[in-house]
Amino acid sequence: MFYLTEEFFSIQGEGKYAGIPSYFLRTGGCNLSCAGFGASYHVQGEEKMGCDTYFAVDSHFAKAWRRVEDASVLIEHLNEEFTKIGYLPDVVITGGEPLMYHADAVFYEVVTWLVEQGVRITFETNGTIEIDFEAYPSYKQTIFALSIKLANSGEPKHKRIKPQAIANIVQYANDSFFKFTIDKRVTQTTALEEIGEITEPFDSPTIYCMPVGESRATIWHNDRAVFEFCMKHGFYYSDRLHIRVFDTTQGV
Ligand code: SF4
Repeated sequence: MFYLTEEFFSIQGEGKYAGIPSYFLRTGGCNLSCAGFGASYHVQGEEKMGCDTYFAVDSHFAKAWRRVEDASVLIEHLNEEFTKIGYLPDVVITGGEPLMYHADAVFYEVVTWLVEQGVRITFETNGTIEIDFEAYPSYKQTIFALSIKLANSGEPKHKRIKPQAIANIVQYANDSFFKFTIDKRVTQTTALEEIGEITEPFDSPTIYCMPVGESRATIWHNDRAVFEFCMKHGFYYSDRLHIRVFDTTQGV
């Protein structure tokens, strides 16, 4: 059983596959909470801080999450959605943290079915969960956007950086790339050092940096500094197209 918070057809807005029509499955729950990203929301009148997908992280919202207990029901539904679309889109499995469910039988059956259809699947992950690629070989056919969290997430280092989990994904996945979310402040302080420490074990890692922001306003606040940071250090800049176009609207 796993939780889905939303699903929708849109355009991938971030990272190496930005611009590609993609069907999104967003799972519920995360093993981190990233208050440092500064998205504020209210629970029973109290202000809380989280990331741009706080509604898929904070268990307060779990009442609205859908329990997926039967893989065949979701598979049939996806089949219908793809027929309506008229072609096989990419599928992006995001969260929350989708790899919390990587060993769940229902989740793995859905992933395996997608792989068998020839769908290109990208997991958007915080890279903290170790996958046994021999026990779950379908993951070898998939792509991982390793969105490893830096100190600006507000999470302690021992929780957000798991070198073995990252190394497994880089070694066994069909493709992977790093995607760091940074703000104006860290471009001038710790970001370069932190990114270097995380990516140093790997040969020619592909590294994207994108601006922190859950809204157009916060992206505008950070984008130029991140843009210049990428030019200075030879990283790829990733925008957040869906936020540029739709601002804070969910499900796009
Ligand atoms: S790891 Fe990602 S989804 Fe989880 S709290 Fe942090 S930013 Fe949000």
